[in-house]
Amino acid sequence: MRIVTSPAAMQRLARQWRRRGARVGLVPTMGYLHQGHLSLVRAVRRRIGLEGKVVVSIYVNPTQFGPKEDLSRYPRDLKRDLRLCRAEGVDVVFVPDDAEMYPGGNPKSEIRNPKSFSTYVVEEKLSQGMEGASRPTHFRGVTTVVAKLFNLVLPDVAVFGAKDFQQAAVVKRMVRDLNFPVKIVVAPTVREPDGVAMSSRNKYLTGELRPQARVLWRSLQLARKLAATAGQTVPANRVKARIRQLLNGCPNARLDYVEFFDPETLLPVTKVQRGTQMALAVFVGKTRLIDNAQL
Ligand code: AMP
Repeated sequence: MRIVTSPAAMQRLARQWRRRGARVGLVPTMGYLHQGHLSLVRAVRRRIGLEGKVVVSIYVNPTQFGPKEDLSRYPRDLKRDLRLCRAEGVDVVFVPDDAEMYPGGNPKSEIRNPKSFSTYVVEEKLSQGMEGASRPTHFRGVTTVVAKLFNLVLPDVAVFGAKDFQQAAVVKRMVRDLNFPVKIVVAPTVREPDGVAMSSRNKYLTGELRPQARVLWRSLQLARKLAATAGQTVPANRVKARIRQLLNGCPNARLDYVEFFDPETLLPVTKVQRGTQMALAVFVGKTRLIDNAQL
């Protein structure tokens, strides 16, 4: 397994592979890997075959964090990540150097440097609601870094997790709109035995907070039950009210949003039924968790 930190070296290697006809698969991550990430690695290997080259990128991308978010304290453990990748048969772990990804420094903190990074990719429809509404520049950071990773790794296939449903939708739209020659695969959410979606941020949930994180899963289950028992449809507001009630019984949980929406357009629906997509974001203590499911 090779570890590559220079974007230019990554691109040279990817071009070499492609000249030799190897298929390339990419799994973009921010590291602190868990079984959810590793399921994406297996999914990409299945698609490109044993002869293909699997690249896992590990990069805590500064441009997708808001000024008051957890960029500096985001969990990191590169040694462990490398061990997990090696065990999965990953070919290259790409750990790009910050200064080379964003020439002139983090564009957010160095806005006065006239030579610094100044080009972004912006998706303007699917990125408006939910995560985009709560985290205004988040998706601009995501689409920009994913576009850069595509240009550096030149993948045939890239795998994203359904855990970040809106992110996957935004990336797919970017790929379609800008003609990136890459197939986007979305792999199912991997959960802990108690239903909590695996996430690097679960590390923040110490002591009594961890069991309270179940409230996201319980909200999804509650909505599922209401949608099923209503037979046909149930007003979205009624389901939201029941979810608020559930959250009120959870001392350290605070709802950021809960939405029911069309899985293609991500536009909100007023009636909930089987098959409706639901997403929610909840602060458990200071940690913001997200989850989603099709009901
Ligand atoms: P992150 O490191 O959190 O940015 O996630 C990197 C990729 O892993 C994204 O495509 C996520 O959607 C995906 N991912 C994160 N958690 C899970 C999970 N529990 N199950 C499946 N995929 C996940």
